[in-house]
Amino acid sequence: MQGATKCKKRPCRICRRWFQPNPKLKDRQMTCGDPQCKREWHRKRCRQWNRNNRDYFRANYLQKKLAAAQSEETSKSRTRESPKRLSRSGLPLQFVQEVIGLQHFIIIEYLAQLLIRRFQEVLSSQVLVNARKVRQLPRAT
Ligand SMILES: [Zn+2]
Repeated sequence: MQGATKCKKRPCRICRRWFQPNPKLKDRQMTCGDPQCKREWHRKRCRQWNRNNRDYFRANYLQKKLAAAQSEETSKSRTRESPKRLSRSGLPLQFVQEVIGLQHFIIIEYLAQLLIRRFQEVLSSQVLVNARKVRQLPRAT
């Protein structure tokens, strides 16, 4: 007798077809074993991982930058900073610092980057949709 309760059939997470999981893989097998389903499953997992990672990154990035700026400001009184240093957006940091303060500037720059990234994401997803639509068009023979 086989351990039927251990390896019950389950639906593929991608194509939803029911399959008999490989007893060696136990609960790790999420797809029916079709190479296309496997690839799709990995892609989804990667995307999820990237998304989680990005949230973590966002939460920590700003805090780290602000802390770095703060320690930089305190150490600046001791060591003369080179005036040519530029921020990521290309503005001369020292000038910005005089007007709005480095920490305010970092927050503004960060928000701008988020906006740009969001914009790029929307753009690239539209490109994907367009490419899909183009593929659906009847081919010229
Ligand atoms: Zn499948």
